[in-house]
Amino acid sequence: MTEILTRLPQLGQWGGTDELLAIQDQQVGQLLRWAAASPFYSRRFGAGVPASRADLLALPLTTKQDLRDNYPFGMLAVPKERLATYHESSGTAGQPTPSYYTEEDWVDLTDRYGRKWVGMDASDTFLVRTPYALMITGHLAHASARAVGATVVPGDNRSLAMPYSRVVRVLHDLDVTLTWSMPTETLLWAAAARAAGHRPGTDFPALRALFVGGEPLSPARRRRISEIWGVPVVEEYGSTETGSLAGECPHGHLHLWADRAIFEVHDPATGRTSPDGSGQLVVTPLFREAMPLLRYNLEDNVEVSYDGCPCGWHLPTVRVLGRSAFRYSVGAANVTQQRLEELVFSLPVQDEVLFWRAKAEPHRLTVEIEVPDARRDGACLALAAAVREEYGIDADVVGVPPGSLVPLHLLTAVHDVVKPRSLFGADEDWGKALLYY
Ligand SMILES: [Zn+2]
Repeated sequence: MTEILTRLPQLGQWGGTDELLAIQDQQVGQLLRWAAASPFYSRRFGAGVPASRADLLALPLTTKQDLRDNYPFGMLAVPKERLATYHESSGTAGQPTPSYYTEEDWVDLTDRYGRKWVGMDASDTFLVRTPYALMITGHLAHASARAVGATVVPGDNRSLAMPYSRVVRVLHDLDVTLTWSMPTETLLWAAAARAAGHRPGTDFPALRALFVGGEPLSPARRRRISEIWGVPVVEEYGSTETGSLAGECPHGHLHLWADRAIFEVHDPATGRTSPDGSGQLVVTPLFREAMPLLRYNLEDNVEVSYDGCPCGWHLPTVRVLGRSAFRYSVGAANVTQQRLEELVFSLPVQDEVLFWRAKAEPHRLTVEIEVPDARRDGACLALAAAVREEYGIDADVVGVPPGSLVPLHLLTAVHDVVKPRSLFGADEDWGKALLYY
């Protein structure tokens, strides 16, 4: 495995964008030969196998629908014996979106995940709080931590065995130093920690950073999470079909791993792609053998820029808008989740607002925030004023008591993890036979 690692480009091996492009060009031919071995791309290529970047860029985009249509192994480019893992993305019920990787592909995957400005080493205790079932995210973080010798606490967020009370217990009792989750999780932990009598900012002294991804995160919410826990929030961007695509530099910018993949920005309105600008992110992972993806459209809305960053990585930066770019009309205003989130989390930390929801109707915007009694009137007035200032509309801002949007029992409940059972005593409920979850 280390042999493969030495073949992969490492941060600092190039001194500018031209050298970065040369690194990409070096791998393109190999990637296209790998791709030719898959039934899907061999059909697409026809008689001649493309060989250069120009050939690659002349190919049509690969879509999520292509992956679904070729479920399960129509994209497979290696003998099945070489596969290490099989995954499916979250989302649309019915049609699965498959992805699979060889052991060698995994070296690139784990290495990319590990490229964060807050590094991980053998002294770390790392709580993985993303799904393990089918998706890649939990396994990716897990493998990356194991590769550097850290202690992994597998805390799958979709498992009944790991309610919030248990997350708080392990964070506290095991001196967890790093975590991996969606940003919203860290706010739920904060509420669960308080419900358990802990103060998030002071009672978890071992915690060094919170790694987050999987959800758009506004600067204000990110600052608030960091303020509550007293540690940096380190963002990451990727997908199950590709693994990590971008990570954060010491200057807080999200950089695309353009030494490991070719990135393009697609404008669905014109059908054109360009290296930077606004549109949908299109990615061609360069070191992926089991299931090569050529010009795969992630359909996430992004802004890509090649402006310099003081970190000196010479990698493009990306702003991920995700589906949050979707707008709802309220009167003449266009309301987005990203902007509303920014306003909610710009309320002072003393208002203790962690959770909110909003309903955008054609002529009415209703925003609910969870806020303690003593701060309710002030917080609602301030948020209504901020919405008026931003959108020019009078929103109904309603303060609801803590526990209204996120019920307290969800934060404090302790589930018994039981095993299936068939024999019951006279006073026991045999209605629970076999169904153990
Ligand atoms: Zn940077």
